Amino acid sequence: MKRIIYSICVLLTALTSTASAIDVHYIDKVEEVNVEVPVGNAPRLPYQLWVTYSDGKGEYRQVKWLNASEALEKAEANPAMNPVGTIYKVRGLIIGDNSTPNGYPVSADVKVVDSSFKIQDSSSKYQDSNILKAEPLPLNQVSIDGDNRLTWNRDLDIDHLLTLPVKQQLYNYRDTYGFSTEGYPEADGWDSPTTKLKGHGSGHYMSALAFAFASCQDAAKKAALRQNIKEMVDGLRECQERTYVWNEELGRYWEARDFAPEEELKQMQGTWADFDKYKKEYQKYGYGYLNAIPAQHCVLIEMYRAYNNESWVWAPYYSVHKQLAGLIDIATYIDDKEIADKALLIAKDMGLWVWNRLHYRTYVKSDGPQNERRSHPGNRYEMWNMYIAGEVGGMAESLARLSEMTDNAEDKAHLLEAATYFDSPAFFDPLSKNIDAIRTRHANQHIPMVTGALRVYRGNNNPYYYNLAQNFWTMIQGRYRYAMGGVGNGEMFRQPYSQITSMLPEPTLNETCCAYNLAKLTKDLNCFNPDDARYMDYYERVLYNQIIGSVNPRKYQTVYQYAVGLNASKPWGNETPQSTCCGGTGTENHVKYQEATYFVSSPSMGGGQGEACLWIALYMPTTAYWAQQGVIIKQECQWPAERSIIRIIPNSSSKFQDSSSKFATSFSLLARDPFGVQVSSSKNHNSQLSIVNSQFSIKFRVPYWATEGFDIKLNGKSIARHYQPSSYVEIPPRKWSEKDVVEVVMPFIRHIDYGPDKLEGHWVGAFMRGPLVMAATGISTWDEATVDADHDLSSFIPDYDGDQHLTHYFRLRDDSLSVHNEQLRINNEQLNDSQLSTLQELLLIAKSRADEQQAWEALAVKVPEYAPWAKHGYARMIEQLKKAQSIMGAPKDKYSQEEIDNVVDALNAVINTMRPGNLAEVEDLEELKQLVDKAKSQLKIQVSGFKIQDSQVSTRQLKTNSQLSTPPKERMEGASQLSTAIDYANMVIRYVTDGSGTYDMIERATKQLKEI
Ligand SMILES: [Zn+2]
Repeated sequence: MKRIIYSICVLLTALTSTASAIDVHYIDKVEEVNVEVPVGNAPRLPYQLWVTYSDGKGEYRQVKWLNASEALEKAEANPAMNPVGTIYKVRGLIIGDNSTPNGYPVSADVKVVDSSFKIQDSSSKYQDSNILKAEPLPLNQVSIDGDNRLTWNRDLDIDHLLTLPVKQQLYNYRDTYGFSTEGYPEADGWDSPTTKLKGHGSGHYMSALAFAFASCQDAAKKAALRQNIKEMVDGLRECQERTYVWNEELGRYWEARDFAPEEELKQMQGTWADFDKYKKEYQKYGYGYLNAIPAQHCVLIEMYRAYNNESWVWAPYYSVHKQLAGLIDIATYIDDKEIADKALLIAKDMGLWVWNRLHYRTYVKSDGPQNERRSHPGNRYEMWNMYIAGEVGGMAESLARLSEMTDNAEDKAHLLEAATYFDSPAFFDPLSKNIDAIRTRHANQHIPMVTGALRVYRGNNNPYYYNLAQNFWTMIQGRYRYAMGGVGNGEMFRQPYSQITSMLPEPTLNETCCAYNLAKLTKDLNCFNPDDARYMDYYERVLYNQIIGSVNPRKYQTVYQYAVGLNASKPWGNETPQSTCCGGTGTENHVKYQEATYFVSSPSMGGGQGEACLWIALYMPTTAYWAQQGVIIKQECQWPAERSIIRIIPNSSSKFQDSSSKFATSFSLLARDPFGVQVSSSKNHNSQLSIVNSQFSIKFRVPYWATEGFDIKLNGKSIARHYQPSSYVEIPPRKWSEKDVVEVVMPFIRHIDYGPDKLEGHWVGAFMRGPLVMAATGISTWDEATVDADHDLSSFIPDYDGDQHLTHYFRLRDDSLSVHNEQLRINNEQLNDSQLSTLQELLLIAKSRADEQQAWEALAVKVPEYAPWAKHGYARMIEQLKKAQSIMGAPKDKYSQEEIDNVVDALNAVINTMRPGNLAEVEDLEELKQLVDKAKSQLKIQVSGFKIQDSQVSTRQLKTNSQLSTPPKERMEGASQLSTAIDYANMVIRYVTDGSGTYDMIERATKQLKEI
């Protein structure tokens, strides 16, 4: 623990020395926005604009564009309404400014141009091919140095990982493939025998082992990790080989397409009795099938079977993806060729099983009403558009990666084709035109699909995939992210620009998996445009705040939903990769912080047109090896760093001769240099060899927050007069010498990350210092959290270091914000219009939902779980819809601005809390809650003195009794059963409250309590 305390002290000293009060100044000038948009697309507008204040200072400020309604975006993208040559304006507002009640008005001039697919991004660069401009230095060639929070978290994760038994991870596979499970402990968490997501945890476990292996600096631990990896890979291959079954009649091996002919598929169910039946028939799974659950689970989705229902599925391809990713990560980082080849073979065979199944048994039909689209099994348009059941994680990413790693031409083509089978047209098509298809979708179901699309682009060079990924990322920045980089309320995206309204009343938001996946998407986008500093600005935001802050440094635990907002406590738990989805991504997160620190290009990249260049994307204490240039890059700093020293050391010493990618063993010798900025360069190199043979340039990121005091000195001399925040500054190609010293100075400038929507008429913002979100404790009401914009932060701590009762967002007093500029003409008419257009948009959403529900209610045969919307939320929405319609239809002066605002807020709230028809609502819990209360008092009578414990399990928790706490042995059998039933019921209550519980679960919990 000493190390942690040390790093906090260093940080606080550093922070107080750079604190400066915010002056009350007004916006003087905002950069102009002129964009060209290819016909058929909505314009891609910058989410931040450079503003200059009356005192001459400047910074990037967030913009809320007023074209975010779906109807407006669709109109903008309609070639009939906006043909080539059209010029139009889009209005926007700089948020957190009081020049007008809604912000500082800005506008963008948009010109529609004739270009079939090249979308201009805000850095005015065109992405015109799938050629990568840069790649990150691989994880195993960058090590984090010193004693700091980064190395502490890493080692904590590795040590914890080594305590997990491999045999437990193999339990489900042995069970699924007819092997004895004797001596193999039952899996638990979401991989327990009674959950349908099993296999997801084993996949995360394998990825975590691979990343830990790549990052581990301790030879003994590395050997133990290697042994576990080997055991896991061998165990899986043994199972997979049971599917290689020759069929005389077919004259070939039994394949994926042969499993469950259509008549069987139509009758197939997903109950546990069915699972038990299918796991005895592993010979029929088809060549190459590898999963911790029988093949029947995957194919049920072809019948559009709903999520989390006793009879059906959870999210079949989600867990397949985790397992593929784990095997690919092992193949990438293990230093034993035999293990690497075997892991790749298992993954490839399973990848080809997926290709075979989807190629022969599925199709896409996107037109017509839903019942028509679902009239035959296997319509992928419907399969992947299902809530959670259609959650496929990064299937496309893994399959595209497998294609890249495969030499055989046919297999390569099939794997890439299989990746495109996971396209979700309902989500992708609007996104490719820059229409926001994110709103109200499940967050983590969709983010990895986008990462997959971008990986597919590498393989097929179809700009559709690049554009949708770029558009998605840009929308996230402006419309959905919170200060620490995370997204989602509960597990859902809400309406654009509604982060603050959506934050209330429960600060359970920003699922950790979303942060993990957004970081990955950002890293991958950066490879195509490494000079655009916005990518690594965001990566830094999400890594330094949410990801690093999502592990408990006192004891290995991670969080599911991150705690954001007012008086929020991090809900620690999720200790194992199988415990929950966030337990899974959690295990991976902390052994790969360094994966995007350095990007490089070489002359061979970009079709041989490239130059050798190194991008210093993050400032972290690291030592890296760049094999192509034969150099060691050493960054000496603390973490977080306001100053960093960078040296380039020729790799001429014999101990660094290994230039293969498996170089980490010898590399670790250098990585263990003492911590601190005073480290002198290695004395092991003699002067003859101290010049790097080839030339390359280095580009340094100037973070968006570095608005004052930033400097880069090469051998003591500044390399520029002015450093533009959110850009890269370059030292041109040169032969680097070991004597060269680059010093980066970057005082943590204080600024505010504003929420886009107001809270009770006031702007809300998170205080930041440099890259860090700052948090305060001891605040429990919004009145206490109402402060001036230049509020004293000396008692604040960085959020990553916080734990319980943290407040991140503050209501900002009006007169402390940038104020009204007398010269600015306020157009109140325009502002009222903007609220009215929001209302109009909400009305359209409400109306279309009402139409959907009415069409379903008119059906002769109704399957309740296929109802578009659950009834209570639907009823609330109809009530608000009527109120809103009366305002919209009334004369303009009949309602005050306040009344319009209230209706907008209320309608927004009911739309955001509606649930799909297969999910239960809080109102459905009434009987169960009463039964729980009754059972609790009964238990007190039965076992006096026994304390009832609420399990500390997260919502969306499994439906199993196996892991629930049970009373001491000596207690009565009845009490034990009752207590278990209460625990289960409490879990269901949390689950339903959070929005993922089903009617089945309530029924089961109710039945259990009634029977006892
Ligand atoms: Zn998660």
